Amino acid sequence: MMGMKWLLSHRYQGDEMNEPLIDKHGRIHNYLRVSLIEKCNLRCRYCMPENPDWTPKEELCTTDELLTLIDRFIELGVVKVRLTGGEPLVRKDFNTILEHLAGRDVELSMTTNGILIDRHIRNLKDHGLLKINVSLDTLIPERFAMITRRTGFEKVIKNIKLLVDEGFEVKVNVVVMRNMNEDELIDFVRWTKDLPIIIRFIEFMPFDGNRWDDDKMVPLAEMKERIGEEFDFDKLTDGPHDTTKHYQVPGFAGQFGIISSMTEHFCGSCNRIRLLANGAMKNCLFSTDETDLLTPLRNGEDPEPIIRQVILEKKPSHAGRFNIAKQENRSMVTIGG
Ligand code: SF4
Repeated sequence: MMGMKWLLSHRYQGDEMNEPLIDKHGRIHNYLRVSLIEKCNLRCRYCMPENPDWTPKEELCTTDELLTLIDRFIELGVVKVRLTGGEPLVRKDFNTILEHLAGRDVELSMTTNGILIDRHIRNLKDHGLLKINVSLDTLIPERFAMITRRTGFEKVIKNIKLLVDEGFEVKVNVVVMRNMNEDELIDFVRWTKDLPIIIRFIEFMPFDGNRWDDDKMVPLAEMKERIGEEFDFDKLTDGPHDTTKHYQVPGFAGQFGIISSMTEHFCGSCNRIRLLANGAMKNCLFSTDETDLLTPLRNGEDPEPIIRQVILEKKPSHAGRFNIAKQENRSMVTIGG
């Protein structure tokens, strides 16, 4: 296979010094989010469209091709790799991918819906993937079934507690949608009283097929106001590339945060790149452009110059929620957040 010819001639160099992946705005890109698979065992309404437009199998990366591309990004300065999906744990060769990446000098993390965590927890721990974000948008079983169009609520709750008991760093991602779950903000924060997790409330974002509407989005300011009706809370210091604004109720074991990409974006410090399951690269979650790295790889070409060009084309920030909502983009399930 052509890609393999390139891989064999460019075996992972490890400490090869390369120019960092820097864009025209001075941002260094060293955090790669990889969508391992487009499929999922849930059907969340804000993520998976009614009729998803799946990529034909032959246009998806093979395991080798995916690992070849990830290795190339690591050689080019990526130090953090997040595995996403769809649902990464439904990928049959997930363990092969994890084993390969565990041998690389990168910080591994994963975003999952939590349903299959108990089956993989030993392997995740043994391979040092200890940072897990679990998507859970409600604490009400009936509402879980309504949002995800599947069952599994109790399993997710049990697996979140299992991860905490096993010493994983756990964050819970909650997409907040008006008239869907904004009435649970306080219950989620209360959950951090005894549980050392970080609840992250995410402003609802427009993606293909999720019927986004500005009225359905609950902005950061309103979330803080609602939580403030019940709790006093302190602002914590955020990391240099953090997407989350962190807060904590004094005396609580956990924290909560808000990801306000729609009303108070954080593009200025963005260090993120996305690789999709079909080998396409996105320099921004909301970029309408995607660049195919798989075909050049299959033609035996080194993807480096293409990767650098895509980074150079990155805009200073996203186009603003109203413009984003009008733009062609993919469904969330095929990007992986
Ligand atoms: S919207 Fe794009 S540029 Fe802004 S933080 Fe997200 S990925 Fe980065």
